[in-house]
Amino acid sequence: MSILEKPILLLKTDSRDTEWVKTFGEIAPEIEMRIWPDVGDPTEINCALLWAPPAELFASLENLEVIFSIGAGVDSLLRCPGLPTGVPIVRMVEPQLTAGMVEYCLFNVLRFHRLIHLFERQQQAKHWEELTQRPAPDVTVGIMGLGKLGEALARQLKTLNYRLIGYRRSAVEIEGVEIFHGADQVKTFLGRAEILVLLMPATQETRHILNEETLAYLPTGAFVINAGRGDLIDEPALLSALDSGHLGGAALDVFEQEPLPEENPLWNHPKVLVTPHIGSITFPPTACRYIADAIRDHKATGQWPNLVKTEAGY
Ligand code: NDP
Repeated sequence: MSILEKPILLLKTDSRDTEWVKTFGEIAPEIEMRIWPDVGDPTEINCALLWAPPAELFASLENLEVIFSIGAGVDSLLRCPGLPTGVPIVRMVEPQLTAGMVEYCLFNVLRFHRLIHLFERQQQAKHWEELTQRPAPDVTVGIMGLGKLGEALARQLKTLNYRLIGYRRSAVEIEGVEIFHGADQVKTFLGRAEILVLLMPATQETRHILNEETLAYLPTGAFVINAGRGDLIDEPALLSALDSGHLGGAALDVFEQEPLPEENPLWNHPKVLVTPHIGSITFPPTACRYIADAIRDHKATGQWPNLVKTEAGY
């Protein structure tokens, strides 16, 4: 049965199936739900909402018309064995996920800019000392990855009057942000980023985009906030840059290996704040609305929103 006649959605989430089913029932009762692995007749299923699908999931889904990714990042989905080619993949772009990421990054920009990371250490030592602070308009924040999340962050940082520069793949302009793009502009961009926020996807092109050479481009004392993917940073190079004093600190939400292994020196590094990949998560009420709207709009227009560019890997 085609999605145009009746959407039948296969759900494979993490541990929140019940919450998703309940929310879909309230928001989009016209969508029939099947929960993996109880798929019924797999040839009836025309759409799927997925997180970490097992390879065998796709084998019998002959009539899949669209895949919705539960996460904004699609690197693990694109790596999934058995993923059918030619089926459009719609990325998760929902307002609460965006809000959560903006909160996470804003908090960390403010923490470094207002030297809270140093005052935390002073408190441990019962040491009372006023440290020189700089006004926001004197501080340059560089956002590497200016997609849905990076652009939303830029809008909020602008209201706080930071100087904003951004690096992206295309040359698309954003008001109030000086844009850099292309490999030959990385050095200039990083050379000005006093607080660097990584909000890029993990792709072949972005792997270790921050490495020994590019970390050295950052101004001395710069801070790195990684909320994109662990693959973006060469971790040993980051540790060296922290230890040498070149970097002032890092706030890391994502890692090359997750969960972060107990023996990883980042856990105990005095200049590093570690969080367990909680930058933002998809929120079923707003995500269900996004999916229901996408299906309804598709019936009218034949188009899907926020399609993954599989050849580019994001
Ligand atoms: P988008 O696809 O909207 O934006 C990605 C941005 O990265 C775009 O600006 C894109 O450039 C840029 N980019 C991609 N490849 C390159 C490259 N080779 N060189 C330069 N720029 C590049 O994604 P979102 O904003 O929705 O999400 C960004 C990432 O955040 C996700 O891929 C995911 O990995 C991560 N994430 C992390 C979460 C967490 O909890 N820590 C939660 C949610 C997402 P252009 O604009 O030109 O296309």
